[in-house]
Amino acid sequence: MDANTRRIGVTVLGSTGSIGVNTLEVLERHAGRYRVVALTANTDVERLAEQCARFQPEFAVVAQTERAAELARRLRDARLDTRVLGGTDGLETVAALEQVDYVMAAIVGAAGLLPTLAAARAGKRILLANKEALVMSGRLLMDAVHRHAAELLPIDSEHNAIFQCMPLDYAKGLDHAGVRRILLTASGGPFLDIPLERLAAVTPEQACSHPNWDMGRKISVDSATMMNKGLEVIEACWLFDTTPDRVQVVVHPQSVIHSMVEYVDGSVLAQLGNPDMRIPIANALAWPDRIESGASALNMFEVAHLDFREPDLSRFACLRIAYEAMEAGGAATTVLNAANEVAVERFLEGKLPFPEIPRVIERTLAAVAAGEADSLESICEIDAEARSAACRLTDRGAARVQT
Ligand code: NAD
Ligand code: MG
Repeated sequence: MDANTRRIGVTVLGSTGSIGVNTLEVLERHAGRYRVVALTANTDVERLAEQCARFQPEFAVVAQTERAAELARRLRDARLDTRVLGGTDGLETVAALEQVDYVMAAIVGAAGLLPTLAAARAGKRILLANKEALVMSGRLLMDAVHRHAAELLPIDSEHNAIFQCMPLDYAKGLDHAGVRRILLTASGGPFLDIPLERLAAVTPEQACSHPNWDMGRKISVDSATMMNKGLEVIEACWLFDTTPDRVQVVVHPQSVIHSMVEYVDGSVLAQLGNPDMRIPIANALAWPDRIESGASALNMFEVAHLDFREPDLSRFACLRIAYEAMEAGGAATTVLNAANEVAVERFLEGKLPFPEIPRVIERTLAAVAAGEADSLESICEIDAEARSAACRLTDRGAARVQT
């Protein structure tokens, strides 16, 4: 396809979220190169209608079907001819449209799996922010990508950094590429140094106040527990075809180095930049070219120094649990993801104390027989089973709030 003769068609799944909004900013900056074909939201029809007015997509999807009529009314009033679809079917449809070249997968959580899979099966370039899809069904998604010659480019800042520091033929294996280890950086989140006895009283607002990044609420809590880094270790194993023992987490509170790759000759390559998601988004949209992202340039004199620490697995039990789940293999990471989603949601609702999050996840992993994650059906079954087990265990954990 030649970008000079035809603009690249893009679907943005989860366009009303933090990654979605950043993506639209980059797309708008390069309107001569990209065309927005479809936008999607879960329930926020107001923001989706505004985005439709701005980008005039062919399609808009509201995942909660009962809100689709309201979007259709708003678009009619604004005299827009964007077609409105609803539900997961609608999400899958716009991920696989003929006129779509790239799909930004920026839905949060397990809800992103089916549309991301649809994009893979349609052979699209997938810009993957939705790490949960890989955590719950890495084998399935990677197989679909390979079988249908889709492209999977990481948006997660760490994985995008690793991608930028890897030789082009890394797909042949890390040994072939001369890579010894991946060094995955982590800010440590808002509770890196908080006294442990204060964790029981932290509020959702405190957990969502990330020191360096402005993100959606679920990933913000994941960053505070460091489950986010655990999910990212698993994500790195799938994306770069490696094992968890070759992914070392490095706590780096400034979030200036977004990750590194260590080679057998002792070289370490790093990607640096301001913490601004428009950088990995622009990288994956334009790859192998480079385009402006709108992010400000990194000022090394202001940064002045960079700190590194080893992660404390007793403080951040979620990171340890995620490593163990990846080492266990099969559907253990499907269970991990489901239990984490349930526990985080309850914490955000004020129904579960923060330190109970890893406990609920660990007990769910012990309670659910994970088995193999070899088909969509088995993954969906295990996901559902893990969610109901986690709900039961969460209610028990929640009882501790009152006592
Ligand atoms: P967010 O909560 O800000 O946005 C989520 C988007 O998904 C919204 O558009 C929402 O409408 C949609 N959505 C939510 N539930 C849905 C459902 N059930 N069905 C369909 N759509 C649904 O989240 P975010 O911070 O933009 O994160 C999105 C994804 O990107 C996550 O997987 C996150 O881990 C990953 N990510 C985010 C960042 C970041 O800086 N925000 C960085 C790296 C990775
Ligand atoms: Mg990240």
